[in-house]
Amino acid sequence: MNPINVKGTHDILFADAPYYQYVRNIFSEVASLYGYSYIEPPTLEYTDVFIHSTGESSDIVRKEMYTFDDKGGRSVTMRPEFTAGVIRAMVSNKLYATHDLPLKAYYFGPAYRYERPQLGRYRQFIQAGIEAVGADSAFLDAEAVLFAVSALGIMGFKGLKVKVNSLGGKESRAAYRAALTDFFKDKIDDMCEDCHTRLELNPLRILDCKVPHDQEIAKGAPTLDKYLTEEDKARFEKILFYLNQMNVSYEVDTSLVRGLDYYGGLVFEVHGSTSKGEDLGALLGGGHYDGLLSQFGGPEDIDHGVGFAMGVERLIALLKDQGLELPESDIDCYLMPMGEDTFEACFVLAQDLRMAGFKVDMPYKAAKLGSYFKKAEKRGAKVALIAGENELKNDSIQVKNLATQEQREVKLSELLRTLDDLLSEDEPEHHCGCGGHHHEDGHCCCEDDHHHEEGQQCCCHHHEE
Ligand code: ATP
Ligand code: MG
Repeated sequence: MNPINVKGTHDILFADAPYYQYVRNIFSEVASLYGYSYIEPPTLEYTDVFIHSTGESSDIVRKEMYTFDDKGGRSVTMRPEFTAGVIRAMVSNKLYATHDLPLKAYYFGPAYRYERPQLGRYRQFIQAGIEAVGADSAFLDAEAVLFAVSALGIMGFKGLKVKVNSLGGKESRAAYRAALTDFFKDKIDDMCEDCHTRLELNPLRILDCKVPHDQEIAKGAPTLDKYLTEEDKARFEKILFYLNQMNVSYEVDTSLVRGLDYYGGLVFEVHGSTSKGEDLGALLGGGHYDGLLSQFGGPEDIDHGVGFAMGVERLIALLKDQGLELPESDIDCYLMPMGEDTFEACFVLAQDLRMAGFKVDMPYKAAKLGSYFKKAEKRGAKVALIAGENELKNDSIQVKNLATQEQREVKLSELLRTLDDLLSEDEPEHHCGCGGHHHEDGHCCCEDDHHHEEGQQCCCHHHEE
């Protein structure tokens, strides 16, 4: 059989894993700073979950879903996004009855869309995102943008563009829809098939069309800001005021609509491009929504939410492009059994060291000392432990600092302390598990942040004091 992966999917291999962990760790830590708890709805939902919430006019529902009948004849869908499943889970489990409002949830995991694979676009990709549900507040809307911007800042991104817009409430959108229908009706013959359907189902979607010719036509369309009610305008201005207060740089883009039907009020996206100028599309998108809880039979009086989702592959592509280098998982010590008879003792010693918190590996069959050292180097080991028969008989071992090449014999009873000394010397004073690239002069990029106590703790929490 040909070992081919499904079109549009990709393997996350050893060298990529640290980047996924990096994004996930920072995202989780930022979530806990903002008081969000982890939620993980299943990958599979009944198809209705997405049709009614993501929206019949959205590209996702119209052509991107992996939908099939299970063996019991039920139509199920691999989640194309998380919001619908998260809200469904909140209602199924009546979380609003047992928890304080707003319910603040974050998630991380794969989503599936049948799209044409290209740069930054896959059929299975990972999304990290948040939903804050059950309260209606400009603070909460602004907080979603702040969360996104802070998480990206801590990840170390530079030069990103934040775009915001307001879609207004139902009344504003109805007036705007009518204006758009009017504008496009005599131009639609010249536009793509999808836009024909969009004009019927939801003319706002036309503004999201990716066909260049259609985008040109749409440039002349009326913008939504002129149709916002006074109330909607005031709400948007409040959000912008809070963002200004927090020094968030953004641009108001009146042509920004989002691909999902449930948005109303604030919408936002963050964009980035590579150093070669390749547009990676939106790194994340989100906004405010009303009416999703009641779609699933949840309470109407608290039926508001705000959230965003970021595309983790796009983030990682840009992090690498911006020069973040994370090593493939390295080890502290490479244990070198000298001769067949020392293997069993080494096997036991490796276990003891691992349980004491050291990252240790060893060969599983005998080889020459030179090849052991090559392996140690490849694995990023800082210390070599050379276990000769005579030393072991003497309850000791040779410890070699691979950076300085200093070597000495150490009693096994002293080994843990010796390793502690050697390995902590090797660490920068404020070592952070996110790879350390953002440490400048031993400081972490987030050093100014309130969550550092006496300069010790990074939000990504892997500082060893
Ligand atoms: P786009 O306009 O690029 O198609 P979208 O509006 O469909 O994006 P959302 O549904 O808002 O995207 O999803 C949030 C984020 O998930 C996007 O900003 C993007 O970073 C990421 N994303 C969406 N689709 C894909 C995909 N097929 N492959 C990789 N990442 C994706
Ligand atoms: Mg899309």
